[in-house]
Amino acid sequence: LGGSISRAIQQMNNATIIDEKVLNDCLNEITRALLQADVQFTLVRNMQTNIKKIVDFDALAAGHNKRNIIKQAILKELCKILDPGKPSFAPKKGKTSVVMFVGLQGSGKTTTCTKYAYFHQKKGWKPALVCADTFRAGAFDQLKQNATKAKIPFYGSYTESDPVSIAVEGVERFKKENCDLIIVDTSGRHMQEAALFEEMRQVYEATKPDLVIFVMDSSIGQAAFDQAKAFKQSVAVGAVIVTKMDGHAKGGGALSAVAATKSPVIFMGTGEHMDEFEVFDVEPFVNRLLGMGGGDWSGFVERIQEVVPKDQQLEKLSQGNFTFRTLYEQFQTLLKMGPMSQVLSMLPGFSQELMPEGREKESQAKIKRYMTMMDSMTNQELDSSNLKMMNESRLMRIARGCGRPLRDVMELLEEYKRLAKIWGKMKGMKIPKKGEMSAL
Ligand code: GDP
Ligand code: MG
Repeated sequence: LGGSISRAIQQMNNATIIDEKVLNDCLNEITRALLQADVQFTLVRNMQTNIKKIVDFDALAAGHNKRNIIKQAILKELCKILDPGKPSFAPKKGKTSVVMFVGLQGSGKTTTCTKYAYFHQKKGWKPALVCADTFRAGAFDQLKQNATKAKIPFYGSYTESDPVSIAVEGVERFKKENCDLIIVDTSGRHMQEAALFEEMRQVYEATKPDLVIFVMDSSIGQAAFDQAKAFKQSVAVGAVIVTKMDGHAKGGGALSAVAATKSPVIFMGTGEHMDEFEVFDVEPFVNRLLGMGGGDWSGFVERIQEVVPKDQQLEKLSQGNFTFRTLYEQFQTLLKMGPMSQVLSMLPGFSQELMPEGREKESQAKIKRYMTMMDSMTNQELDSSNLKMMNESRLMRIARGCGRPLRDVMELLEEYKRLAKIWGKMKGMKIPKKGEMSAL
C-alpha cells in the first residue's frame, strides 16, 4: 500500500511535465490506496473531483511548484474530510461535565473511558467513571479494575439491572463530590439490536451528557459510515475516538465516522494500556493513511534531518543493513541529541518501548549500558546482521568483556532483534534530501 503511493508520487516527481495523465495516474494510485485503507468510496470520489478542480493546468508554470501544488492539494483534501468545521464540546477543568461513551460491543469503550479519565487526571482534573453497562457480565468488574489501577473513583452495581438508574445515581454522586469530568460507560451490543439504541437513548435523556463520544474500532472498514450514522441518529454524538490504531488497519473508517457524525476525531487508542492514548492529529494520520512508509516516516525523516545534518545514517538504514554497528551509531546520535523527546517520539520503535516518556534518565542509562556491551564486540560481530553467529561462547565473552551479566547481553540481543525488525521496514525507502519534504 505505502509502496504504491510513494511510487505514484515518485513517478510524478520524475515526470518533467505534469500533464493530466500524470495527475490521473497519481490520483488513481491514491484512490486505490485509500479504498484499501477503508475510506468510504463516496468520500474518495469527491476528493478526486475536488483535486482536479484545484489543479488548474493552464495556470501552472512548469517545474517544481507544480508538483507541490498537486501534493498539497491531495493532503489538503484529505485533511478537509477529517475536519467537520467545528470543534467538539470541550469540558472545562473545575466545571462539571458529563461525557457519555457509546459504540458497538468490543469497540473499546470501557478501555477508552479509563484512558480518557487517566489522560485528564494527569493534567489535574478530577475524573470519575460510571458503569452503565448491565448487559455484559463482568462489565462492572472490568471498569472497576481499570479505575482502581488508575486511582479513579468509580460507580456501578452488581445487583441493579437498570442502566438508566445506575447512570443517574452515579452522575449525581460524583456531581456532589465535585468531580469535573464524569464519564458514563454504556453497553454496546450488535448493530441490529434496536434495544441497544433505545437503552442508550434513555441513558442519554436521563443523564443529559455535555458530550457523547462515539468509540470506533479502526478495523471496522467500510461499515464505519452506516454504524456511526446509526449512533448519531439515536444520540447527539459530538466527537469520535478511534481505537486499536496499533493494529494493521489504517483507520480510513475514521473519515467516514467524521462525515457521518459531523464530529471531529479527538483521540486515538494505540494499545491496550492506559497510557496508549494520543490526542488526534490530522496530518500524521493522513500520512499514515496514505501509507507514507507506515508509521510516520515522512515526518520522522524530516525531523531527524534537522538534528542530524548528515544523511549517512539514514542512507545506511534505507539500504536495509541493520547491524549492531548501525544500532551503536543510532544510540550515539540519540545521546547527542540531548532533550530529545520530540524527535524520539517519532523514532519508530524507540518511543514507547525503549524510551517511555518521563523516564528519559533511565532510558539514557540503558542506552549507555547497551553501548558498553557493544564496545566489547569484535568488528565482525558489529558488522554482521546474522544473529546466528552470536553463539553462547561469543555472548559469554562479551559479558565478561564489559563486566555485565549474561542476561544483560541477552537483553541487548532482544532489543537489537526488535529494532532490526522495525527498521528493516525502511529498506528501499527513498531518503529525501533536506528541503525536499515540503509537502508529502
Ligand atoms: P467495549 O466492549 O467497547 O467496552 O470494549 P473494551 O474496552 O472491553 O475493549 C475490547 C478489547 O479491545 C479489549 O481486549 C481491549 O483491551 C482492546 N482494546 C481497546 N482499545 C485498544 C487499543 O487501542 N489497542 C488495542 N490493541 N486493543 C484495544
Ligand atoms: Mg465495555
